[in-house]
Amino acid sequence: MEILDFKEYEKFTESTDISNQSIQFYLDGISEEGGELSGIFKRIRRGDFGDHAKYDIEDPDKGLEYVIRHYPEIKKAIVSEIGDRHWYTTRLLTKIKVGWNDVMEYNKAKLEERKKDNTIMGHGEERVPSGDDSMPVSLDRYEFLDIFSDFLEKEGFSSYGHAEKKGLEQYCDEFGRFKNQIFEMSAFWWGDCTCGAEPGTIEMYSGPKAHKKDCMVYICNFHYKPTNIKIDWYKYPFRSMTANREFTDDEFRTAMRDCKESLKDII
Ligand SMILES: [Mg+2]
Ligand SMILES: [Zn+2]
Repeated sequence: MEILDFKEYEKFTESTDISNQSIQFYLDGISEEGGELSGIFKRIRRGDFGDHAKYDIEDPDKGLEYVIRHYPEIKKAIVSEIGDRHWYTTRLLTKIKVGWNDVMEYNKAKLEERKKDNTIMGHGEERVPSGDDSMPVSLDRYEFLDIFSDFLEKEGFSSYGHAEKKGLEQYCDEFGRFKNQIFEMSAFWWGDCTCGAEPGTIEMYSGPKAHKKDCMVYICNFHYKPTNIKIDWYKYPFRSMTANREFTDDEFRTAMRDCKESLKDII
C-alpha cells in the first residue's frame, strides 16, 4: 500500500466531504467517532470476549492487552475508528487553515515545556500533594546559598552537587546520588527517566505520578533526614529553590554542620 503523507491525505479528505465544510458537522463527527472507539472497549469490558478480558489489570495475558493480541478484528476496529476520527479532525484543521505538522509541533513543544517545568520544580501542579512528596515552599536562594556552597566546596562535592572527592564514591548509587544515614544529594538530573516508566507516552510527561519514588527525574536534589529538609533546584544548586517546608538559616546551618560531621570518617 502506498504511504500517504499528511498533505495528500488532507487533499483526499476534501474530495470525500459532502458536508459543505460545516464546522459543526466536523465537531459532531469527532465526538461520534470518539464514542465509537469507546464502544469497542465497552464491549470487551461487558464480557463479549470472555470474563478474563473484562478487567484491565497489569497482566499482558488478561484484559485489553490480551484481547488486542488475540483478536485481530479488535485492532482493526481501533484503526478504523481512529481513521474515522482522523478524517473529521483533518477536515476541521483544513477548514481553520492549520496543518497536521502545526498540530504535532505545537503539541511536542507543549509537552516538552511541561516536562521541563516538572523537572525544574520537582513538583508540577499535577504532583499528588501528599506530605513528604510535595515541595510547596519557595525560598530565597541567597539566604542559604553561601552556607550550602561552603559545604559543597569543603566536603568534596562539585558546585553542581556531584560527589567528587575520593572516598565519597562508595556512598553513591549508579546514578551518582550520594547517600548516607544523614543526607542524600544528587546534582540536577539531565537524563531521562530511570524508573522504567514507558517512554514516549503521555504518562511519561504527565508528572511524578507516572514515576516511581526514586526516579532521578523527580527525586529531590538534597534531603537532610534527621529533621526532614528536602530541597530541589534547577541546574545549579538553589536556583529556583523549592523545599518541602519552611526552615530558618540557623536551622539550615545546623543541618549542614551535621552533614559535615557525617562525612568526617570518609577517607
Ligand atoms: Mg466510525
Ligand atoms: Zn521515572
